Amino acid sequence: MRPIQMVDLKQQYHKIKSEVDEAVIAVLESVAFINGKPVQDFAEHLSTYIGSKHVIPCANGTDALQITMMGLGLQPGDEVITPSFTYIATTEVIALLGLTPVFVEVDPKTFCMDPVSLENAITGKTRAIVPVHLYGHAAPMAEIMTIAAKHGIPVIEDNAQAIGGTYRYDNGTRKKTGTIGIAGTTSFFPSKNLGGYGDGGAIFTDDDDLAEKMKMIANHGQRKRYYHDIVGCNSRLDTLQAAILDIKLKYLDRYIAARKTAADYYDRALTTVPGITVPFRALYSDHVFHQYTLILDGIDRDGLNKFLAEKGIPSMIYYPVPGHRQKMFEGFDTTKVSLPVTDWLTERVISLPIHTELDEDQQHYIVSAIREYINQ
Ligand SMILES: *Cc1c(COP(=O)(O)O)cnc(C)c1O
Repeated sequence: MRPIQMVDLKQQYHKIKSEVDEAVIAVLESVAFINGKPVQDFAEHLSTYIGSKHVIPCANGTDALQITMMGLGLQPGDEVITPSFTYIATTEVIALLGLTPVFVEVDPKTFCMDPVSLENAITGKTRAIVPVHLYGHAAPMAEIMTIAAKHGIPVIEDNAQAIGGTYRYDNGTRKKTGTIGIAGTTSFFPSKNLGGYGDGGAIFTDDDDLAEKMKMIANHGQRKRYYHDIVGCNSRLDTLQAAILDIKLKYLDRYIAARKTAADYYDRALTTVPGITVPFRALYSDHVFHQYTLILDGIDRDGLNKFLAEKGIPSMIYYPVPGHRQKMFEGFDTTKVSLPVTDWLTERVISLPIHTELDEDQQHYIVSAIREYINQ
């Protein structure tokens, strides 16, 4: 059996090595390292794939969030509502821009923003809502959009973990996650579902004016070279990364299918294990399984993590400290909220290896080890 990793990028690379190597060498030969043709090509292909009028490539998924918040003209003191149960990038940029992060609950089944908690957190100062499609499961977008529309607040979808996923409305129509709010953001961090071989990110929007403004912000606030109209930053997707991502985009649906197959295997093998709750899949969400995350009840999580590690099986806690308990936000009154579901989940979640190269032998071994731990 091959060694088990949380993510097996090497095996995945080797399957597309000749294509990737050729594209990388072509960029090297072109020496157009910044804003080379592959950047525009990739943005166009991604725009078609995702179904968004504009795709603005940038340096990483954190910048994508920052540029979007700047593009929306958010000002210091404005409140931005976001789940506490997410990766730090979502919430950190809010504070970085002098905005106030307002942490709300997630649903204990989907791990995504709880609409009731959202609605209760809206004040006269709320200027944006940032749901996260965590672990690859879509947030309840119809409900979130209805609440947002009622109060006239823009929604930014953090789609870093769910690219390629879809949201299904009650009437059966579908939209890709990241294309429902005024803007969506994503990350091409290597371990993400569409990962480059370095950092990268992108923003999606159908809004022409916002797209224009965000393009300027990502490029030192200029439309015309050396004429800087607004304060921006320098956030670009490298040509090399774009060339690699353009190839990997063609495989994205296959990569997602492989993740789903692995998730189905885990589901079948673990559903009946007492004390384990396998990932919930809401009818409205096509889960793309960036992570396969269990909820443990009455099982010693650290013990399981150690037991698996001794058998060569990695497992991870995403994330050990929720936003409202991070030191960096100590200065905000908004962290002094009670988020019992978030705290409950934080103590109980554990993520198993999931990636495009996981095979049944490995999964059989992982599942057997979990059963052995629980039965001992
Ligand atoms: C990875 C990630 C980001 C940020 O992506 P980077 O490219 O690492 O900056 C933002 N939000 C979520 C939920 C993520 O998982």
